[in-house]
Amino acid sequence: MRIAVLSDIHSNLVALDAVLAAAGPVDGVWHLGDVVGYGPDPNGVVGRLREVGAVGVRGNHDAAAVGGSEIEWFNPDARRAMEWTRGVLAPDARDWLEALPERRTESGIELVHGSPRQPIWEYVMSAASAGANLERLGTAIGLHGHTHVPVAWLSVGGDVQLLRGGDGDTLELGDRRALVNPGSVGQPRDGDPTAAFLILDPKAGLIEWHRAAYDVAAVQAAMRAAGLPPSLANRLSRGV
Ligand code: ZN
Repeated sequence: MRIAVLSDIHSNLVALDAVLAAAGPVDGVWHLGDVVGYGPDPNGVVGRLREVGAVGVRGNHDAAAVGGSEIEWFNPDARRAMEWTRGVLAPDARDWLEALPERRTESGIELVHGSPRQPIWEYVMSAASAGANLERLGTAIGLHGHTHVPVAWLSVGGDVQLLRGGDGDTLELGDRRALVNPGSVGQPRDGDPTAAFLILDPKAGLIEWHRAAYDVAAVQAAMRAAGLPPSLANRLSRGV
């Protein structure tokens, strides 16, 4: 069974299409939220996810896009992009985003955007937070996004181990508890501008991280044409 796991697509349809092409035939597409925000094509991304039958959860940007108070916490550029997103979002895309749950379980694996204990907002970036969240997981394996960095946090004999997920890296989870992050499709922040995703075999507990190159300049041009903040377009070249 091959599942494509995608997170933080952020209205970047060009990156999403590159990832779906690179993933090849899959048995399912799971997304971990932040479908919209920052990028130039929120309706296109929602449309594509519906087309491929993706299932997933709500991120902080998705919550803000449908009118949640989350927008109060955004920095000025993210906020400007979110106001733009709210203005262009088609009613059916809005309804689809609004229906996303905060967490869900698929094939015995828990899906959240931020963390199991705080599904919308917590950034799992330290061993302390990862350890607390590994304990809170309702399943052995959890998938999360939000940080835009591909990693796995593993519970090993009472310790928490951090593993970075580079292109082509594989991980066999066995019976270890793990919280795994595919990285970001639409706005990677690990210094590599290519779109990040992972392929998961839930039954075997097998993970492969991957990257897909896409036409960054075309997305930046669309962002400038839409009047989105230049800093958000510029950062895509650097993967930060
Ligand atoms: Zn995000």
